[in-house]
Amino acid sequence: MSFQVHGKDLLGRIGTIKTKSGAFATPHMFPVLDPHHRILGREFFDRVGIQAVMTNAYLLKRGLQGLDPVDVHRTLDYPGSVATDSGAYQILEYGHVGVTPEEIVGYQEKINTDIGVILDVPTGFRSDPSRARWTVDETVRRADRALEVITRRDILWVGPVQGGVHLEEVERSARQMAKRDFAIYALGSPTELMETQRYDVLVDMIIAAKKALPSGRPFHLFGAGHPVLFPFLVALGCDLFDSAAYALYARAGRYLTSEGTLLLGDMVEFACTCPVCVDAKPKDFMTSRDKEADTRLVQHNLWTCFSELRRIREAIRRGRLWEMLELRSHAHPALKQCFDRVCQHSGMLERSTPAVKPHGIFYLGSSSDSRPEKLRFASRLTGSVEVRRKFVLVLPGRWRRPYHEDPRYESVAKTFDDHPKVSVCFYSLIWGPVPIELDETFPIAQTEGPDTGGPSALRERARTVSEFLQNLHPKGVILVLDGPYGRAVKAELSKAFAKRSLTVLNGELLKPDTLVKSIEKELVRNA
Ligand SMILES: [Zn+2]
Repeated sequence: MSFQVHGKDLLGRIGTIKTKSGAFATPHMFPVLDPHHRILGREFFDRVGIQAVMTNAYLLKRGLQGLDPVDVHRTLDYPGSVATDSGAYQILEYGHVGVTPEEIVGYQEKINTDIGVILDVPTGFRSDPSRARWTVDETVRRADRALEVITRRDILWVGPVQGGVHLEEVERSARQMAKRDFAIYALGSPTELMETQRYDVLVDMIIAAKKALPSGRPFHLFGAGHPVLFPFLVALGCDLFDSAAYALYARAGRYLTSEGTLLLGDMVEFACTCPVCVDAKPKDFMTSRDKEADTRLVQHNLWTCFSELRRIREAIRRGRLWEMLELRSHAHPALKQCFDRVCQHSGMLERSTPAVKPHGIFYLGSSSDSRPEKLRFASRLTGSVEVRRKFVLVLPGRWRRPYHEDPRYESVAKTFDDHPKVSVCFYSLIWGPVPIELDETFPIAQTEGPDTGGPSALRERARTVSEFLQNLHPKGVILVLDGPYGRAVKAELSKAFAKRSLTVLNGELLKPDTLVKSIEKELVRNA
């Protein structure tokens, strides 16, 4: 088994998984194929760039009752990597399955699967804590039995994590499975949460599992197949998904987009330019509600899923996955809720986000305040000003970055940068207080953001500047005021500092050399 990671952002990563039948890129969604009803050929998969598919070993076994097992690649007419599910979902649906855990492992070996799943017991959505505990324990028992009977080590075996919505059980399950050597770990039974749009719970479940699992192994989320969720799921560390939603949705005339689902019957034009949509109109798909039209919708749905995965991989390469989450969070209130919950876990996301990225970041308002780079900045802030100097010179941090190179204040900043009694700090609308010591650290100077904001945004940010300065306990503060934000900072500092220890100079009126002279005069006066 080899899983190589080529790029990271948040908990998301781009990687390659190698199986005995080939390699494929992650994040990846295994399209789940019905072994008895093939609607897409391998030419189509090649064209979309789908290099791994999934089918259900249990349904395969049941359909071929009495017959000898056949290589699953032959059954599906698909030479690439094939993953097989064990029938756990059928347990969830029907309560029991007519095969033993040992049989289903043996069967997956006989049909020469590339990625196999042990027969776990899904917890489901409605299980109470004691039932959840039992499903976790039973899955662990089955994992141990499966590991004993597995003979083929060239198959990548998946260890499922259960626990449902009971987070302590999810974490316990993940800890138990982590002790057992599986090539891939997976989280079970999120389908109902997705159908009911309880994405907040789903986010917590994924985090609970990820915390306890080895980070070097791929992480699979069972049954996730809607592209709107992909960016969030990848950002939380999901490398793999599997779903038949692309086909099930198509059967109901539902057209997938990266912002949500549309009903074919409500549409007049296609915005999508995938090969099936580019020359067609929704009514073409509608009027011939035959097999061919059905296939076109299936194809579009898969194109959409895979183009979203490509977009996510590009976002990871550029270090812009957070921006993608912010964008997608505006597509639907449920996604906003999902995003807000992701924000609550940004400490964990911070630990795996690269310290330096190939591109700067975008600051898009308060939704960007939870991004890892901001948390990292806040943690550096307190220790950044090493020497507690007597005075703080507070300069505007405007559009020009690094702030100390702003043509209007460059000479002022340079004059006092090494002054033994003065600390220089900028007030930035994006970052709040930026000590000159941090001015050139990534991504302070590389961030694109607004230069101005509403009164409450200015006030809120000015307050963070004031709080930072108060913690430095300076003898005097010299504020160079510029623009509405400068006035907001002045208002906050006036509240926090005594009149005699606060000096305000108007940066809009005074020339740089006059500013320097005025500041020097202040230092002498207060010496
Ligand atoms: Zn399309």
